[in-house]
Amino acid sequence: TPTSRVDRLLSSMGYGSRTEIARMARRGAISLDAVALLDATKRIPVTPDLSARMEIGGEALDPLAGMVILLNKPLDMTCSHKETGALVHDVLPERWRRRDPAISTIGRLDKQTSGLLLLTDDGGLLHRVISPKRHVAKIYRVNLARPLDGTEGALFASGQLMLEGEDKPLAPAELQVVSEAEALLTVTEGRYHQVRRMFAATGNHVDKLHRERVGGLSLPDGMAPGQWKLLSDKEIALIF
Ligand code: URA
Repeated sequence: TPTSRVDRLLSSMGYGSRTEIARMARRGAISLDAVALLDATKRIPVTPDLSARMEIGGEALDPLAGMVILLNKPLDMTCSHKETGALVHDVLPERWRRRDPAISTIGRLDKQTSGLLLLTDDGGLLHRVISPKRHVAKIYRVNLARPLDGTEGALFASGQLMLEGEDKPLAPAELQVVSEAEALLTVTEGRYHQVRRMFAATGNHVDKLHRERVGGLSLPDGMAPGQWKLLSDKEIALIF
């Protein structure tokens, strides 16, 4: 079991500077197994159950590093600090913005795309999910400006579709027609504006884009836009 100084651990989780943590400890705000931890320089074993055993100001300790968050991304929120507008990170507790390792989105959804978005502070996991070699399926519900013309399915499945400005064709993708101007599309890559550009290549236009699934993980029924939850190890395993 790894050990950590209490001040270093809590500081890396966004609770404050080491000086601030020391002060919190001295006034009895930090407890382990219901016993006040007065000296924040003390080393403690960082066991997986620590969040259930430690309290800060009377509240359970935040999850330790290695979290995966599932968010139903609302429209009008961005995944990148470089864009303008509200960031998806803003729906999470404010303190989590100061965590080290930082929490990043696993891939991105456009500002005008809604649905299943994963975030994590686990860089290894992030790369496993977005690696094209792993072929993790992403399923999108697409609403189009014009009716499908019937040729899209074969084109997307061909593995020959070349998007404008690129030099490598897209991997085969599967189209499932839902109605005249609505479809489910399964892709295994995550190129820039991929789904919108695929339909643009057929002369159509995507009006509404919503991600329903990543691997074997679906957006839970009834999860409203902006709601999120931490995934269990079992749920994380469903991704691959
Ligand atoms: N493809 C897109 O065009 N946009 C997204 O947000 C995701 C996939």
